[in-house]
Amino acid sequence: MNVAQLQAEIREFAAAIGIDKIGFTTAAPFVKLKDRLKQQQRLNYQSGFEEPDLDKRTNPLLLLDQAESIISIAVAYPSKMKDSPRGKKGERRGMFCRASWGEDYHTVLRDKLAQLELFILTKVPDARLRSMVDTGELVDRAVAERAGIGWSAKNCAIITPEFGSYVYLGEMITNIPFAPDEPMEDQCLDCTLCLDACPTGALIQGGQLDARRCIAFLTQTKQAVPEEFRQKIGNRLYGCDTCQTICPKNKGMNHTHQPGFTPDPALVKPLLLPLLSLSNRQFKEQYGHMSGSWRGKNPIQRNALIALGHFKDESAVPELVRLLAEDPRPMIRGTAAWALGRIGTAEAEVGLHQGYIAEQEATVKEEIDRAIKQLQTN
Ligand code: SF4
Ligand code: SF4
Repeated sequence: MNVAQLQAEIREFAAAIGIDKIGFTTAAPFVKLKDRLKQQQRLNYQSGFEEPDLDKRTNPLLLLDQAESIISIAVAYPSKMKDSPRGKKGERRGMFCRASWGEDYHTVLRDKLAQLELFILTKVPDARLRSMVDTGELVDRAVAERAGIGWSAKNCAIITPEFGSYVYLGEMITNIPFAPDEPMEDQCLDCTLCLDACPTGALIQGGQLDARRCIAFLTQTKQAVPEEFRQKIGNRLYGCDTCQTICPKNKGMNHTHQPGFTPDPALVKPLLLPLLSLSNRQFKEQYGHMSGSWRGKNPIQRNALIALGHFKDESAVPELVRLLAEDPRPMIRGTAAWALGRIGTAEAEVGLHQGYIAEQEATVKEEIDRAIKQLQTN
């Protein structure tokens, strides 16, 4: 096998199947990353969605016998939506982040990696290969950084000169000794715009994130959102793009050539009120193909309530009162109470008092009590 020739053929094939950027690195352990992850664990800055075993996250040899190299891939996604609907009074809308626009990127990248695996296997039938996207053990960004896809930026994203940070990442561990690419120089330099713009102060310092304060994480939790973050979440239903949209390196970056990622404006910027009454089946039918649906409808509906409170949308009061009285989920009743407290009409006040009398769950009663107090300060 001529490895250099195969590597060149892989680059060519990858471009032909719509992989926007490809890089190669060795399968050596990610030693510095392990130290950083240990520190993140110590500080309790992790989201809890990560693979807990730090050795597996940082040592490719534990994931594939005789691992020699890793192929890192990047696929660009758009940052702008055509015909974005405007929210107006009585018709407020929420927002899914860009990484949830169009088809679930996990499916798209897994498919491209599967095609790449087949291609390699036709050339090297006994090759050992293992691909992953996002939910695998390895840290996609660390692999991409070392493979020269982009630099590891202060907003914790990988920024590519060609597509900004609007790229999805995936990788394939192989037992073929491909020549590694050179990592890229940091180009953030003395800029701190993303740190200053983060609504919750989740970016502790350049490249260090307290995931538990990050809105991208908070919108995915299954529990009530701590009160200090609710107003900061605004109308975000899933994820947060602020530290990307503020970044000067993303200026003018809007790559729309991947047809699967074209957003449906009505879905990624949906009306809030109809979201609240969706059944599980309706949610799956309408949103199931989007990556932002992976935690089910409950977090999205909770975030829709937060958004209605954020907008102080008076037309939502009857529905919020209904949810407070009838919904079986304490998290939804509690968040509805918070939103009613923010909106603060006479009807909201009556609904809160009635809700308080009927409520059995202590945590929800506390929410209602706080919402009534909030009304008095409105
Ligand atoms: Fe801050 Fe949003 Fe970036 Fe999280 S995603 S670090 S909350 S700006
Ligand atoms: Fe780097 Fe500035 Fe972009 Fe933050 S906003 S990622 S510091 S270039």
